[in-house]
Parts: sequence; structure tokens; C-alpha cells
Amino acid sequence: MARLHYRLIVVLLFGLGISAFLLAGCALLRPASPADPLAVYRPGLRPGETVAAELLAAMPRYSITVKVDPLANAYTGTLEVSIPITGAAAWRDLYFRLYPNLPQFGGGLEVRGVRVNDLIVNYGYEADATALHLSLLRPLPLGQEAHVWMNFIGRTQQRKEGAYTIFGANEGIWSLTNFYPILAGRREDGWALDVASPLGDVGFHDAALYRVEVTTPADQIVAATGVTVTAEQAWDGWITRRYVHGPAREFTLIMSPRFQVMSGDAYGTQVRSYFLPEDAEAGRAALYYAIAAVQIYSDQFGAYPYREMAVVEAPLTFRGMEFPGLNLIGSQVYNKYRQDLENLVVHEVAHQWWYNQVGSDQTRTPWLDEGLAEWTMYAYYLARYGYFAAERLREQRWQVPVRYAVQTGADRPIGLPVKAYGRDDYERTIYAKGALFFATLRDEIGEEAFRALLRSYLTRYRWRIATPADFQALASEVSGRDLDRMFKRWLEGKAE
Ligand SMILES: [Zn+2]
Repeated sequence: MARLHYRLIVVLLFGLGISAFLLAGCALLRPASPADPLAVYRPGLRPGETVAAELLAAMPRYSITVKVDPLANAYTGTLEVSIPITGAAAWRDLYFRLYPNLPQFGGGLEVRGVRVNDLIVNYGYEADATALHLSLLRPLPLGQEAHVWMNFIGRTQQRKEGAYTIFGANEGIWSLTNFYPILAGRREDGWALDVASPLGDVGFHDAALYRVEVTTPADQIVAATGVTVTAEQAWDGWITRRYVHGPAREFTLIMSPRFQVMSGDAYGTQVRSYFLPEDAEAGRAALYYAIAAVQIYSDQFGAYPYREMAVVEAPLTFRGMEFPGLNLIGSQVYNKYRQDLENLVVHEVAHQWWYNQVGSDQTRTPWLDEGLAEWTMYAYYLARYGYFAAERLREQRWQVPVRYAVQTGADRPIGLPVKAYGRDDYERTIYAKGALFFATLRDEIGEEAFRALLRSYLTRYRWRIATPADFQALASEVSGRDLDRMFKRWLEGKAE
């Protein structure tokens, strides 16, 4: 509203003398054909994709330029981001996260020359250098936008062979996940500045819009979140690609000169599989699992939002990691643990719904993110292989470890933050017991209500951050049941 009003005044003051301004103003004022605020990002979006105007107006808009040099294990870039100031009060400070400084990333990210609304500001590193605090001279008023500009310099490492490598070089693949300064997530009680445990995800972020220009050596095959809109030679032996991406929670790059690529279609989305040549058979299988998952989840929960999705072999041992439109799968699952490939792929693809479209606080309430993504495998198995296969998954993957925990007195509630768990009980509690929670809820309210619940969860909280209380309220609303005792028992461990 405020924006339109401002444009109107500009048109009234200057429009008469400047016809271009007048035309732009008229276009804005004509409700029948409003300018498409997503126009720049349409190449990455499913045709007809819509986002509510008030959500779009609140999204940060990033513009990043980065030159990456895998041989030097280094990259440099510039970040510009426009941040709508939303919420209940003016913002007194701004925080960005610098995840490459996490010990589990084993890299480094530094910033230089930070400006906010064209004024140079002081800044300092906090939270073990994983957060950048910008000191503002005066608060940023609600309803306005802050324009932040900074340079950044990153470095990566060649990691030990066989080491889990979420960031840096290993196995001839170079991962640049969370490589740039990203606006920190915000909670009711302030900025989310947790130093992430290596057991869980790095943090959570508001959905945002991205334009990214990436220059790499020409021999690199690059997989990225978002779609490539142009690619041209930068100088001899180097290529510049421009990407658009979003709404999405982050932007990520992964590359290798050895990647081979196969692609297929899932309801109009081009799905690509990137793999090393020696793992071609598994790379082809990963593509087919991903296509089937996109189709099943689209049918059951709601559409996948983008024109492209990638599944990429990555130096993540036997683990996977989700990014918007980009699913990284550990290389050991392409050979040594090939029997886990389908499970890993369809779990990560489930995060394209639960994490990217519907966000949640992955640090404080990991069960809502991981438990639901894990349960979604049940929906995949049920649709693709039938009831007995789905029940076998439930029994073998979730029930067996949880039963063992109960028998040995190690059973724990699912509703705790990542930091409350240890290596021995995090996955069992958050993934296995978390998935069983959703399976039990489905038994309790019936398949029809449960399906309606997940569809409404997507519609209502798409591109937002949902809380456990939001999910519980929606479950009660859809089923007409008071589920308080059940939620308390599973989340807090309180007996009925
Ligand atoms: Zn997951």
C-alpha cells in the first residue's frame, strides 16, 4: 500500500513532464493488468505459479555476484539485498549468518565494506564468527526497506578422503553450500543466532528471491538452486552464468568437471541427475526415484513450485542434504550403500515441500522438519509399492529402533531442540520416532483427514515459517479432534 501511494505521488509530481514515468505510473495504477512482481523469477517457476502479494512484499531480494576458483579453494563476491522491514516494531540491528565459519564446514567467510542504505556501517562477528552484526545508527522503520551491500571473501578446504564434506572439495566435487552472507532467521524472541550442532541443519531462513551471477572455470559442470537464464564466456576459459531463483530459502552451488548429467520430466518439471561416471547406473536410478517422488508428492500435497529440480552426487558419505530445488546425496549411497539410494532420494525430495515451501525452525523444533520429511517416505511407498511395502518401511526403519530405545530406557520425547540430543539418539528420536508420530497421527485421525491436513499445511504456510503450535492447531481444525494429549505425550514425553 505504502509503495503504491509513493509511486502515485511521484507520478503526480513529475509525470506531466516525463512521459516514461507517466506510462509506468499508469501501468501500476491499472488494476486489470498489474505488473508481475515475479516477472524476473518466472523462468524458474512452474507456469501459473502465484504467491500472495503480502508474502511477496515481505521477501528479501538478493542479488549476488560471485567468482569461484576451485583450484585456489577460494571465491570472492558482492552481495546486495533489499530487506522489507516487517513485524511488530522497527529493527534496531541486522544480522547475517556466515555458515562457512562453522567448524563442520571447515572453511571461512569474511565480509568487507558493509553499507546499509548507502551509509558505511560498523560490523562485528558474533556467535563464533558465524553471525555478522551490523550496527545501525538509527532503527529501520517498519514498512520501509533496508538496502544492504557488502563484499565477501570465502575459502574452502580440500577435505580428507572419506570425510563428510558439506562445504569444500572432496572426491573431485566442490560444494559451495550456504557460501554467502544470508539474513539470519527471526523468532519472536529475536534473531536466530544459534551455532549449529553438526547433527542438525545450520539454521532456518525466510523465503527470499535471488538473482545470482556465477563465474567459474569453463570445465566445471555446475548444479545450482534456481535456473540458468544466460551463460556466456567471461574471459578465456571462464564462464559466467546468471541464475534466477525463488521464492526459496537459500541459494547453493555444487560443481565438478567430472559430473555427468541425465534428465527427465515430472509433471512439466525438468529433473536432472548429476553423478560421477563410475556411478552412472545409480545416477540413472536416482533420477527415476526423484521423478516418481515429485509426481507422488505433487498429487498428494500440492504442486512442486519450480521448472527444474536436481539430484546431485555429493561428498556427503552416506547422508543427504536438502536445498531448494537441489537434493545432495552422499556418494557412498551410489555404490557401497546402493540399497539406501531410493530412501535417501525420496526423503530429500520430501524436503522440497517440508523445509523449502513450508519452513520451520530446524534448530529448535527439528521434528517438524525431519519427522515429516521422513514420514513422507511412507506416502511414497504406499503410492508406489502398496500397503505392505509402506508398513515394512514403518516397521524396519522406524519401529525397530524406537522399540529398542523404549526397551533400553533410552526413549526420548521428539519436541526438543537439536542441541538436547546426542549422536546416539538424535536420528533415532527426530527421524524414526518423529516419523512414527506422523504415522500415529494418521492412524488416529484417519487417512482422509491426514491428507487434508498436509494439503492445508502446505496451502496455509507455504513460504512461511510454521511452528509446532500452528501444526497442532491445524490438525485439530481439520480433524475436529482435541489432540493436545497426544501432542504432549510425543513432544514432551508426558504420559496420558
Ligand atoms: Zn531430512
